[in-house]
Amino acid sequence: MSESLESAIRGICGSCGNDRGRLMDIVRAVQEQFGCVDGRAMELIAAEVGARRVEVEGVVSFYAFLSDHPTGEVVIRVSKCVPCLMNGARRVAEAFAEALGIEVGQTTADGRITLEYTPCIGMCDQSPAVLINDTVITYLGTDRARRIAEKLLAGAEPSRLVNKFGDGVNASDLVRSAVHNNVRQAGPFVLGPFAAGDARRAASMTPQEVIREIKTARLRGRGGAGFPTGMKWDFTRAANGDGKYVICNADEGEPGTFKDRVILTEQADLVFAGMTIAGYAIGAEQGILYLRAEYAYLRRHLENVLRQRREAGVLGENVAGVEGFTFDIRIQMGAGAYVCGEETALISSCEGLRGDPKNRPPFPAQKGYRGQPTTVNNVETFCCVARIIQHGAGWFSEMGSHGSPGTKLLSVSGDCSRPGVYELPFGIKLSEVLKLAGAEDTIAVQVGGPSGRMVGPKDFERSICYDDLSTGGSIIVLGPGRDLLKIASEFMEFFIEESCGYCTPCRVGNVLLKSRLDRIIAGKGEPDDLEYLEQLAKTVKTASRCGLGQTSPNPILSTLENFRELYEAKVQPANGLQRSFDLSEALADAEEAAGRKSVHA
Ligand code: SF4
Repeated sequence: MSESLESAIRGICGSCGNDRGRLMDIVRAVQEQFGCVDGRAMELIAAEVGARRVEVEGVVSFYAFLSDHPTGEVVIRVSKCVPCLMNGARRVAEAFAEALGIEVGQTTADGRITLEYTPCIGMCDQSPAVLINDTVITYLGTDRARRIAEKLLAGAEPSRLVNKFGDGVNASDLVRSAVHNNVRQAGPFVLGPFAAGDARRAASMTPQEVIREIKTARLRGRGGAGFPTGMKWDFTRAANGDGKYVICNADEGEPGTFKDRVILTEQADLVFAGMTIAGYAIGAEQGILYLRAEYAYLRRHLENVLRQRREAGVLGENVAGVEGFTFDIRIQMGAGAYVCGEETALISSCEGLRGDPKNRPPFPAQKGYRGQPTTVNNVETFCCVARIIQHGAGWFSEMGSHGSPGTKLLSVSGDCSRPGVYELPFGIKLSEVLKLAGAEDTIAVQVGGPSGRMVGPKDFERSICYDDLSTGGSIIVLGPGRDLLKIASEFMEFFIEESCGYCTPCRVGNVLLKSRLDRIIAGKGEPDDLEYLEQLAKTVKTASRCGLGQTSPNPILSTLENFRELYEAKVQPANGLQRSFDLSEALADAEEAAGRKSVHA
């Protein structure tokens, strides 16, 4: 065993050029082959790539899809994002657990099958959903979960569990997935038809002209922050370095967001065209598409599109006939870490490190991947880039509003009859989105995922755009009967699990916030708790180092702002009694020592 481990690791590291910067690829390959990256494997990897064992261990311990101890050769990951929970994800997990004879978080006695929860697998429009190794199963019920568990116990290969494929490219030989695109409304920019070579116009322009066109179109990043893309490219082009890089952030991990999944499935060529244009504009030779681990089922399809682009002469040397312009793209797989959606954490991950965010300045445009000037843009942003070059800035900015030209892809999930992906012009009212999605009697909408805000009916006439209700794409509809404070608590749980732990306000503050919120939900809150939540939430926002911590208290702050009455109903003064004091809990130790139970219980 140990010999085969040694030779396998030598082979894996060799195939990655024994490059320490490719550590993510190496540990992922070892995990896949051996079910874990244990201490011996870490030592061998460290020796091959010239790293210290502790560095390898740091990477393995950071990512949810890696493990230093054996897991089952089959890992069932039940998505527990709020849309999945709303549709019965816990019941599905329990059905799996019962059929497998284990608890969630355990492995079957024969060591073959592990069952666990995972934060969000990007299937909120077809929930509940699970990942079984890289195979996605959607629209699950408890009976089907039991049948799948029985098949797995009988030795079925996860990939053979799917016999009915989704639509479009999902049904192709390279994907063969049960996932449905659920495109409810396609627009002209991102989801409209596109053929390889449609953006060749860039070849007749200088890099400066390309950047000017993107600036004229007033394109802003579609990831949520809305930074002007042309300006970012200007900074990267002007920065000095030995090489420059283009990175596409395809780590869409915000619960409730799944539109990049559809773009990568149906419009991969458009994304790669946009990346190539970015490479030409800033003077880069190398592009990286960082693909979240949950979308590994798309990898072969994406590699195939890249191969076709090379054959068509729009990747490689002298791209599109432009003498001296060399540009190629590689795919970097993630390994399950929401924080890697933050651009500096994503760069760390591409470099084979833990996905720790970096201090800024320097910004990636000055010093990014491998210390070189780097532009990081979102999947949807690259689609817009290719369209602007294809049709011109004027055509692009005809849609949307002055501050937010173009369209926005929205991922709509939750309590509505038509969940899915909508490409809509910026400036559309939230009420119109709800109508399109078939949402009725909506009591609240979570706009922008957990890091966004929860709004109520008084905000439904507001517009989706950078200057009003801004969102990276997630729209979770909450209908009658939903417990909004419990949903806020689920979001806080998500941030606690996903914090990288580097800074105290985020690591500790979110735990304190959730525990005080849960105390209120349990009816043990005090009126002073609202002030406590507000103050602590503001501290966490301002004192945290990266975007995760800076937005993590939003579920509490936005519910306090828009649904304060729900809190106030729970924290009414209780006739002089202190609600937070639990007599049973306070006496529990004494009762145990005395060996008796008192009458108050
Ligand atoms: Fe890590 Fe949170 Fe600090 Fe960001 S804010 S660096 S996620 S601990």
